Amino acid sequence: MSKEPYMQEWTQKEILAAIAKALESEPDGPNKEYWTTPDCTVQDIKEKHGLKKFKPNPMTITLVRECCGAKFVHTLANKKEAKSLKDCKCMDRECRLRTVVMPYGKFAGLTVALVYEQQPSYLAWFYECVAGCEEVKAVIRGLDGIEAHLTEFRQKPRPPKPKQRTPTQQEAEWLMGKFSSQTVDAVCQELFGGEA
Ligand SMILES: [Zn+2]
Repeated sequence: MSKEPYMQEWTQKEILAAIAKALESEPDGPNKEYWTTPDCTVQDIKEKHGLKKFKPNPMTITLVRECCGAKFVHTLANKKEAKSLKDCKCMDRECRLRTVVMPYGKFAGLTVALVYEQQPSYLAWFYECVAGCEEVKAVIRGLDGIEAHLTEFRQKPRPPKPKQRTPTQQEAEWLMGKFSSQTVDAVCQELFGGEA
């Protein structure tokens, strides 16, 4: 899971598409070539075009969320800055229902909304029993009618947890005293009547 669950990292494909769009009306030339050619460096442009100096023009791009069309503007000084761009994730309830997916398990990769249609009790279990995954849980919390499923899950009898076998201090002392200075074989013989 991402360290910043509420940040969205734009993909290289999205960034390159935004750059191409921003340069649509610019005539071909070193600047356009620099920004639109993958892995092309300032040095490459200088060599190819025989330029002593070359400084790319700052690039202002607009990234658009697919889910709801929200727009984010970034100005890049160079291509290094285009390697990783982040914005807040979309918090719109409807968008998140359509885009947030189960991180693992039998419904891995399916949206929370789809799992809710198929097996709401699974989401109740996920919400109550899985650690972390706050983003998914936030979406589950917002589902219409989820409260009834959560209540049902909480009330369902569950197999009791196996009893922890921690001996009391007294028992431990008795065992240590009783069998001290005996071999494992002898202790087994005494306790179980068989070999170790
Ligand atoms: Zn959205």
